[in-house]
This record gives sequence, C-alpha cells and structure tokens, in this order.
Amino acid sequence: MLQEQEAHAAEMERTFIAIKPDGVQRGLIAEIISRFERKGFKLVAIKIVIPSKDFAQRHYHDLKERPFFNGLCDFLSSGPVLAMVWEGEGVIKYGRKLIGATDPQKSEPGTIRGDLAVVVGRNIIHGSDGPETAKDEIKLWFKPEELVTYTNDAEKWIYGVN
Ligand code: GDP
Ligand code: MG
Repeated sequence: MLQEQEAHAAEMERTFIAIKPDGVQRGLIAEIISRFERKGFKLVAIKIVIPSKDFAQRHYHDLKERPFFNGLCDFLSSGPVLAMVWEGEGVIKYGRKLIGATDPQKSEPGTIRGDLAVVVGRNIIHGSDGPETAKDEIKLWFKPEELVTYTNDAEKWIYGVN
C-alpha cells in the first residue's frame, strides 16, 4: 500500500489550462471545466483576467518568430481569459489529449477543440505542453498563494489509493 501511495505521489502533476477569450465569450467555460472535472482531475487555482498585450507576449514568448505571433497576442489580450491550474496523475500530457490537436480541423471528435472549435486562430483553449512549460506558465499566471492544496474526498475512488 505504501508503494502505491509513493507511486501516486510521484506521478502527481500540475498543468496550466486557460480558456481563451473566444471560449469565454462563447459560453464554453462550464463545458470545458466539466471535462477536466469529470475525468477526475482536481482544480487547484482559477481566476478570470484580461491579460495585457505585454503579458500575452510573455506567455507566448516561444512563438515570437512566428508570423501569427502579433495577432495571437492581440487576440489573447482582447478579452477575459479563464486561467486555471489542474492537478492529477499525468495531467500535463492527458490534458493535451482532452484538448486535442492545435488545429481544430485536425483535432479528433471527442476532444475539446474537435467538438467545439473550427479554426486554429480561435481554438478556445490553451494547455501547457510539458513539465517545464507547466511550471513556467503556472508561475507566470499565479502567485504561489493562489494555488490551493487540498484533499478531494473522491481521490481514493479515482486512484484507488488512500
Ligand atoms: P498549442 O500548444 O496547441 O496551443 O499550439 P502552439 O503552442 O503551437 O500555438 C499556440 C497558439 O497559437 C495555438 O493554440 C493557436 O491559437 C495559435 N496558432 C498556432 N499555429 C497557428 C497558425 O498557423 N495560425 C494562426 N493564426 N494561429 C496559430
Ligand atoms: Mg503551445
């Protein structure tokens, strides 16, 4: 049992997920949150913010050479974004699976982008693409005290570990 608990603790991760201004304006907040929640992931931080253009540029800094960078940053700062941190075993990689491919034309049905978006420039949601980016993005968007550590009573049923 102790081994299972240690394995569970070692696999526990956090990822940064954001509903972009198009997802917020289209009324998709509850739909998107419910997909992460029903899966069994745990919400540990959430807030609604309108990021400045400078902040959007920091968030997407690794894309600054891309032709769509300026439009992307204008778009991200054009309205409210729902910023969240989700926790769970494998949540970084599986969160990306729930989201689907970057281009909604290539996202599988059943994924968030596959079911709810049509074009790459309005693909409604962001998710960290790996452990390092997750750490950096959580730090960029949230103060440490905005992250809540708690036990969800359903965890023993989700993971089979007490
Ligand atoms: P993601 O991690 O799946 O969100 O994709 P990327 O990190 O590669 O790109 C970040 C965001 O830039 C995407 O979610 C899209 O909103 C946007 N984007 C990516 N590629 C393109 C493109 O070819 N054209 C446009 N207009 N936007 C793009
Ligand atoms: Mg990305």
